[in-house]
Amino acid sequence: MYRPPWKKITAVVIIYVGLVLLFTLLGVVIGPESAQVGGTRPDETIPGHLAELAGFGLLLGGGSAAIYGRKGVHLIVLVPILTVSLDLDHLPAYLGYAETIRPAHSLVFVVVAFAATAITIKAVDLDLVVVSAFMGHMAVDTGLFAPFSPLSFQYYSLDPYRLAFAVGAILCALAAGVVLRRGYRTVSLGGRGDV
Ligand SMILES: [Zn+2]
Repeated sequence: MYRPPWKKITAVVIIYVGLVLLFTLLGVVIGPESAQVGGTRPDETIPGHLAELAGFGLLLGGGSAAIYGRKGVHLIVLVPILTVSLDLDHLPAYLGYAETIRPAHSLVFVVVAFAATAITIKAVDLDLVVVSAFMGHMAVDTGLFAPFSPLSFQYYSLDPYRLAFAVGAILCALAAGVVLRRGYRTVSLGGRGDV
């Protein structure tokens, strides 16, 4: 019976969430005081926004799984978890502390998360899933971001790039499915297919 790679999946979630919290901490510690203006959206809009994020994550994970079939089914769970957990960087503001705006919604974050996953887990499909989940989140969010946090806390609106993020998220999700499928074929031909 097929067993999803739960160990690798758990490791990805731990690395991703750990980095979100690390970037959050870095924002609090090294962000200039003038940049400590991060907040949370009004309470009543939070569930709807999280549902939107999870929904897009489901769509992305579903896209990968649709290409790969039954053995990609774990992505339907993994992608929404990663998509939503980027918002853990609102934690200080939610708890009433000053913080920078969205410290982990940063291009530096996605590069570091990709590298950390690639080095430790060595599964190309999961690297692509990390990028897809990040881009999917950025496609849904609006407003101000520090795209180079924690290197710079200059804020920009990334609204003009939302479509590009959505396209990137979909392409990475589909590429993850293709990678998985190719790995599976290699296995069926008798090679090592644990990509
Ligand atoms: Zn967000």
